[in-house]
Parts: sequence; structure tokens; C-alpha cells
Amino acid sequence: MTDCIFCKIISKEIPSEILYENDKVLSVLDINPIHFGHALILPKQHCRDFLDLPDETYHSILQAAKVVTHALVESLKLEGYNLFSNNGTIAGQSVFHFHLHVTPRYRNDNIRFVLNLKRYSDGEMKEYGTTIRKFIKP
Ligand code: AMP
Ligand code: ZN
Repeated sequence: MTDCIFCKIISKEIPSEILYENDKVLSVLDINPIHFGHALILPKQHCRDFLDLPDETYHSILQAAKVVTHALVESLKLEGYNLFSNNGTIAGQSVFHFHLHVTPRYRNDNIRFVLNLKRYSDGEMKEYGTTIRKFIKP
């Protein structure tokens, strides 16, 4: 994709701080980190979001995430970290080339999702389960 910033990073048209690379995946430091060391895991093949990833890429992404997370934990002496991915504009995705974020966490760093957690009414959880299971296609 010619106008995709992550494709340009992957092709080395624009510079980045590379942490790890193999034939399927590139990991770089995020330019606007939540904490220093915040990393991104990018498939080399352009894919818009999680559901757009080719089947053979999922394993490579998680394998790279493990390698990079190990390095973050050991180099920065982390006690915790988050792995997450925003998919779709309403979910906060701003670059439409799939990526996994790996970000360090620190005690009392005061980073939190502000969540208003819901409760299922009687039988409602079962209804959701039934509806969703109809669409499970392994
Ligand atoms: P998201 O909002 O989940 O789509 O995440 C996109 C991420 O890409 C943001 O955290 C940005 O800071 C990061 N980002 C955008 N441009 C660059 C770049 N040139 N190099 C590294 N990270 C970038
Ligand atoms: Zn791309």
C-alpha cells in the first residue's frame, strides 16, 4: 500500500527504531509511547485489521510479540505490561495496518481504561452465548 505509513516503515522508506525483524513481522518503537519502550508488532504484509490477517500470519505475530515482550521485561525490569490492538475507528485505530501494541506498565502509573461495567440480566448471558455461537466458524 503506497500511502500506508507502516508499509513505508516496513520497506525502510521512512526511518524507525527497529527492535526485531523476521521474514513476516517487524517490531518498532512507537513514536508516541504510553511509556518509553512501547513497541508495535507489524505484519509485513499490509492488512487492515485483525480479521484481515492471513491465517499463516497470526502465529508469527504472537511469536514476535513474545520475543519483544521478553526483551522489554528483561531490559526495563518490568513487573507488568499490556498487549492490545485497536481495530476500527470507533475502537481507536488510527493507522489502518494491523498492529499489536506492547507497552510497559509501572506501579501507580495511573493508566486505566475508564469502564462502566455492565451486568447481564437473568438469561441474557445465555442469549448472547446462543447468538454468538451460531456464528462460530472454526
Ligand atoms: P492505533 O492508534 O492503535 O492505530 O496506533 C497507531 C500507533 O502508531 C500510535 O500509537 C502512533 O503513535 C504510532 N505511530 C504512528 N506513526 C508512527 C511512526 N512513524 N513510527 C512509529 N510509530 C508510529
Ligand atoms: Zn500497510
